[in-house]
Amino acid sequence: MNFEGFYGNERAKEYLSSAFARHSFPHALLITGEAGIGKRTLSDIIAKALVCECENAPCGKCEACRKASARTHPDIIRISNADKPIPVDEVRALKLDALLRPNDADKKVYIIDHAEAMSHLSQDALLKILEEPPHFTTFILLCYNLSDLLPTIVSRSAHITLAPLSDTDMLRIITEKLPGLSPEEQNKLIETSGGICSFLIKEKNPEHTDFAVNIANSLVAGDELGIYRAVSALEKENRETLTSVLDELIVIIRDACVLSSGASSTLISRADRSVAERLSYTFSSKQCCDIIEQVSNAKNACARNVGVPHIAGNLICKFAYIAAKAASKG
Ligand SMILES: [Zn+2]
Repeated sequence: MNFEGFYGNERAKEYLSSAFARHSFPHALLITGEAGIGKRTLSDIIAKALVCECENAPCGKCEACRKASARTHPDIIRISNADKPIPVDEVRALKLDALLRPNDADKKVYIIDHAEAMSHLSQDALLKILEEPPHFTTFILLCYNLSDLLPTIVSRSAHITLAPLSDTDMLRIITEKLPGLSPEEQNKLIETSGGICSFLIKEKNPEHTDFAVNIANSLVAGDELGIYRAVSALEKENRETLTSVLDELIVIIRDACVLSSGASSTLISRADRSVAERLSYTFSSKQCCDIIEQVSNAKNACARNVGVPHIAGNLICKFAYIAAKAASKG
């Protein structure tokens, strides 16, 4: 299996490669790990490998890989509902759909992001198909907090926990992606990265950090007009700037997520620590994950050439909803 773009976690890769080569890939795979660690990236690689038509899958070049990258492959189905628990009706519909043969490929892959957002009723409904799945179906469950899943779901799935990268791996990535840094700069990056490489790869523009901080502060303030002002400021920017601001925002929220879950990982945003602290007082770690989910969706829309004003408008609605929900509980 070709894991290009996914670093470290060698044991997990060996396990997946060997299961794939032996044609005994698990019908249910549970991937856990903290926000930003690469759960979604890995699930995308696995799904692509399962539908790829070539050797050394995913080849990245065949029609199936191209469709998978564009997120238009009919046999890769993503279920993600960050706003509210995944409704039991949706899980029941998924169970029926999973019984139908794939459209293009030999396999059909369901990726359930935020699996912990399923109610116990929904998880019970899913359990039935995890016990006796059709031979062509693979379920990949992505989960931030394992304790929210029913033990029966966990026991019926092969389980992979993604770990932060070692300093040696980080140094290798930094040398490859950010050539020309001094040893001091390299060490500083390794120190502040918390072993999470996705946040190092791009150079940060301070203006983009300011944009992201404004949006984060508007989420903390929670008023719809403030969120509208902060996000709509992006409408006149180009796609590249929008993506960079969204990347920066994910890092800030990831830090808030770390703070509100009491984890001991290092904070990695270049923004002032107080921004992440304020977010962590306002939002639970689940709500932080919901915000990250919405920002990731916006990034995907950006990659699919959806118009910037449309993406910004959609984010305003989602953010206003999440902020109102957090305020009503407070
Ligand atoms: Zn391919």
